[in-house]
Order: sequence, then C-alpha cells, then structure tokens
Amino acid sequence: MKSRRLILLTTTVILTLLLNACTVSESKVPVNKNEHLVMATLYLQTAAEARALRYQAFNLATMRLDQALAHCKFAKKPAVILDIDETILDNSPYEAYLIKSNQSFPVGWKAWLSKAEARPLAGARAFLQHADQKGVDIFYVSNRKVQSLQSTMENLKKAGFPQVRKDHVCLRENTSGKEARRQAIAKTHQILLLLGDNLNDFAQVFEHKSVEKRFAVTDSLKAKFGKSFIVLPNPMYGEWEGAIYNYHWKMSAAQKDSARKAALRAFNPEE
Ligand SMILES: [Mg+2]
Repeated sequence: MKSRRLILLTTTVILTLLLNACTVSESKVPVNKNEHLVMATLYLQTAAEARALRYQAFNLATMRLDQALAHCKFAKKPAVILDIDETILDNSPYEAYLIKSNQSFPVGWKAWLSKAEARPLAGARAFLQHADQKGVDIFYVSNRKVQSLQSTMENLKKAGFPQVRKDHVCLRENTSGKEARRQAIAKTHQILLLLGDNLNDFAQVFEHKSVEKRFAVTDSLKAKFGKSFIVLPNPMYGEWEGAIYNYHWKMSAAQKDSARKAALRAFNPEE
C-alpha cells in the first residue's frame, strides 16, 4: 500500500513538474517582434510586381523629365532631387537582418551602411544616367546621418549613379525635415522632379501628420503625383508607419503591435 502511495505521489510530482515546464516553456517562446516585416520585406525582395513598380516609376520619371526639358526654358539650371533609401538603393537585406536577429532599428544600421553594399533599385541607374546625359543636376537628399557621407558616396558610386560629389549628396545634419535642403537647391536650380518612397521627400506639408491628414494632403496634391512627384513603394517602414503610432516611436513592440491591429479597417460579419 505504502509503495502504491509512493508511486502515486511520485507520478503526481513528475506530472506537476512536467506541466510547469510546459507552461514555462510556452510563455518563453520567443515572439519575433519583426514578424510584421516578413511579408513587407519578401514583397520587395521576391515580388516581380515590386520590381515592375520601380520600372514604372523610373519610366514615368524619364518621360516627365524629357517633357519638362522639351517644353520649358529655365532661368536656372534644371535639377532632380532623389531620396536614397528605398528610392534608389535597396536596404531590404538590413530589414531581413532585423527579422532574423529579432532586433530593432538602429541596431546594425551603422554596420550595414559601412559595408556600402546596398544594391541599386531596378530602373534607378538608367534614369539617373539619362538625366546626367541631358545635363540635369542630380541631388541625393537623404536622412542618413552626415557621418555616413563617405560610405554613402562609396555605395552610390558602386551602384553606378552619376554626379556623386559632396555638394550633390545632402545628408541629415540637424533636422530630418528636408525642406531646408530642398530650398537651398531651389535657390540655384529649377527643380523638375522629386523622387522618394516617403511623402516627406516631396513637401513639408506631409510631415508629422495623422493617417487621415496624410490622406487629405495627398488628395489636395493629387495632380502632382506622376508629374513632378514620383513615388516608390516601401511597405517595410516610413512616415506612414509613424502615423499609425502617432509618432510614439519609443512604444514597446507589444504596443506597436496593438496600434497596428487597431488601425486595421476590418469587415465584421456580425453587423
Ligand atoms: Mg527613403
């Protein structure tokens, strides 16, 4: 009898320990805070549709540039302004690193920039070489920090982009707003086109707005898209994501996840 009780007690203890172990291991299953980036990154890395969108953007940019040059006389030298990241260079391997390491920006960003290995996006080089041949000045206006100027220029040159000179690569010094840099270029140049993956690359009026206000400003400027504003796709990050968080970038990963889910406009079969 004693031995049966002992066996029962031992079994109960073992079962309890096993159950506890299961509960603990379940709650410790690492949840990748970058799971939402998987589809976005795959879209840019594997979807031919993303590549086609980029060709579409640069084909349109080439057409608009030629039209502007053919029909207008300019008092100042003509110029185009381009953002760099996700406009002409592909940083998706960095995003993939964040997914695989479960890290958040800016972990690893400096190391990625210093490698200067971001590839040119489809259509970018041909468009820029065309602009260069037409005598158009090219300005690379990016929010990469000015400390990365050397590696950024190295990467732009490696990608085969023209006019990669210090006075044509305008990185972030004090403010992420690009208006001052655009205005400085406009003093000496007629800006024919702006290209970017973030609406802040085009005009100050888009900056720090809610999702709804970004839509409203976009609607008010709709005639400019495909004309003097050429937009590239970026589902991985951008001001659009900040708008979802009300620009509280320091939210925890769980809070960001909740904010993203709350922003979804969903069908309800019960209603
Ligand atoms: Mg960009």
